[in-house]
Amino acid sequence: MARINSSYRKLSAGYLFPEIGRRVMEFQKANPSIKILLLGIGNTTEPLTPAVMDGLREGVERLSAVETYTGYGDEQGEKELREGLARYYSSLGVDLEADELFISDGAKPDAGNIQSIFATDSTVAFQDPAYPVYVDSNVIAGRSGPYDPRRGNYAGFVYMPCSEMNGFIPEPPEETVDVIYLCSPNNPTGAVAGYRQLQKFVEYALEQKAVLIFDSAYAEFISDPALPRSIFEIEGAKKCAVEIGSFSKFAGFTGVRLGWTVLPKTLKIADSGPGEVHQCWLRRQTTLFNGASNIAQRGGIAVLSKQGLHECRKLIDFYMGNARIIKKGLLECGLTVYGGENAPYLWVKAPEKLTSWEFFDKLLQEAHVTGTPGSGFGPSGEGFLRLSAFGHRSNIIEAVQSIQAKLLL
Ligand SMILES: *Cc1c(COP(=O)(O)O)cnc(C)c1O
Repeated sequence: MARINSSYRKLSAGYLFPEIGRRVMEFQKANPSIKILLLGIGNTTEPLTPAVMDGLREGVERLSAVETYTGYGDEQGEKELREGLARYYSSLGVDLEADELFISDGAKPDAGNIQSIFATDSTVAFQDPAYPVYVDSNVIAGRSGPYDPRRGNYAGFVYMPCSEMNGFIPEPPEETVDVIYLCSPNNPTGAVAGYRQLQKFVEYALEQKAVLIFDSAYAEFISDPALPRSIFEIEGAKKCAVEIGSFSKFAGFTGVRLGWTVLPKTLKIADSGPGEVHQCWLRRQTTLFNGASNIAQRGGIAVLSKQGLHECRKLIDFYMGNARIIKKGLLECGLTVYGGENAPYLWVKAPEKLTSWEFFDKLLQEAHVTGTPGSGFGPSGEGFLRLSAFGHRSNIIEAVQSIQAKLLL
């Protein structure tokens, strides 16, 4: 008798984006002539750069000739790509071996799958708010109690609240936990953890023999040289941290699909032998994953070339130009706005103590602009709206002008 994994029934989400869609559609139906402007999308909009296109074309070409054709590739990903990433890390002052890098089809699958190598009864802590996959993958794995809709959280999970009070960067938990998820620059708040703040987490993890899962998908959006781009810039992190990276926002690969995980051989948790955690992930990936597309990997190699990096950084500058336009425009309206300096997200405080969804409705109905309700990213996101700097410049300007002209504050 087959039965469902009942943990799926515990999941609160699947709710956020469908609900946004429902409200937007309802508004459009009632107001068919109004153009709705999107500032909520967490998706890239600008085309791939020329050097990256050349890499992808080369990847396709290689498949057309018997001399260069390849089928399944190296299990951990193409060596040239892993060496390119090792060089990228070395430019941050981080020394990694190429086989501490695992190439994947994206950071989201890795962020969802990594929990599977840790004990099922682990206590897990989450930066709150954050990208929902960390929480949801642990719910599916059976680590949570029920969802509490009033509080917006799951029983049994430890939430590390991010608020205006702590600049949206949490302190390590007071209690003892085993696995800790951090995302910096953060989606949705746009906040970036400094060296000292990350050092506290590394110290905590080393002391408690806990593991840090660090999502660095937005590292390339950091322009402030005083901010760390990798957890491995912190001394001791190679003994206690895993880092998950992505070409999605870095190079516009949201549809191409390419990411990586750094799992140092020196990582040690309470009961692991030397290199055992690294071996577990290798085993997990070789057993259940068959590698990223060889075409996408040629694209990734091109991203990491000198010209590729130069072009991708210009693309990021373009999105950050959008962020500056949104931030300036909203500040001029008198709104309180965080983020948008070293991350493509703006974290806007709801006026008049509105909830996230009330502010969402107000922005839609008055200014015809959509954001993403902060409460969808965790209980501490309540009272905020996430706006995104991904978008064509003309749409960004139109949305900001509409907010300035129409939002009643
Ligand atoms: C967009 C995003 C990713 C990217 O995931 P991919 O699967 O590589 O596209 C990862 N983490 C965060 C926090 C994100 O916002």
